[in-house]
Amino acid sequence: MNEGIIFDIKRYAINDGPGIRTTVFLKGCPLNCWWCHNPEGIKPNIEKLDINKKINSKINEKEIIGYKINVKDLTNELLKDYIFYKESGGGVTFSGGEPLIQIDFLHSILIECKKNNIKTAIDTCGYSTIIKIDKIYDYVDLFLYDIKFIDEKQHLKYTGKSNEKILSNLKYLTDKGKKTQIRIPLIPNITDTSENLFSIKQFIDNLRNISEICFLPYNKLAEYKLTKFNKNSKIKKLSTQSQKELNKIKDYFKTEKYKVKIGG
Ligand code: SF4
Repeated sequence: MNEGIIFDIKRYAINDGPGIRTTVFLKGCPLNCWWCHNPEGIKPNIEKLDINKKINSKINEKEIIGYKINVKDLTNELLKDYIFYKESGGGVTFSGGEPLIQIDFLHSILIECKKNNIKTAIDTCGYSTIIKIDKIYDYVDLFLYDIKFIDEKQHLKYTGKSNEKILSNLKYLTDKGKKTQIRIPLIPNITDTSENLFSIKQFIDNLRNISEICFLPYNKLAEYKLTKFNKNSKIKKLSTQSQKELNKIKDYFKTEKYKVKIGG
């Protein structure tokens, strides 16, 4: 597929994988997390969204979210920062939404990255198929793989989908030998409970090829963006974890098997 739909390109990113990176946000996500900080990326199509310009006085305007881009133009965009990737050990990260949703476009752009000697990472929620993972496997240097819950009922409640495929795909990927960084969003009293972190640790400790665990502290931007895009938010005024709480979580996960850090 020569053309895809993206909604943003972020340059000089330092939290989306190693080094300095360019992050490309593809539209479409099969999940609908209560705390989504990219709600404009959930629908796969180009949208005309109501933007709440003055959040308190409800002045709305329409804004077009998403645009089509072809592989050649996107490759040229990505090559503009090639020197930064080379100097810093960085590269390009494909995120979203969920990048595997646009698998044919993703496959084509990954091939171009490899032709141009650009390191690649995929930031995925893991809700996909083995066929799609196999299709891009050889062109991806690093997977950034989200785990939110081990308990299926909780996953279903807070994301709208079961986590069965997510966990089995992660096992498949890591058994196959791909270097994988696990990313755990810490949503206060939802994913950061001791029961949930205990079961995530147990699951991860039985996997191979995990390079790093990254804990992503709650990002208040989610509430702002959900209001901005006039989406109903089920979360209200959550507070980010304190440094002491974050350190406690980090210490709990500390092991020789993988690195643990706070942040992406
Ligand atoms: S997986 Fe990520 S992009 Fe998709 S709904 Fe959840 S937070 Fe949003």
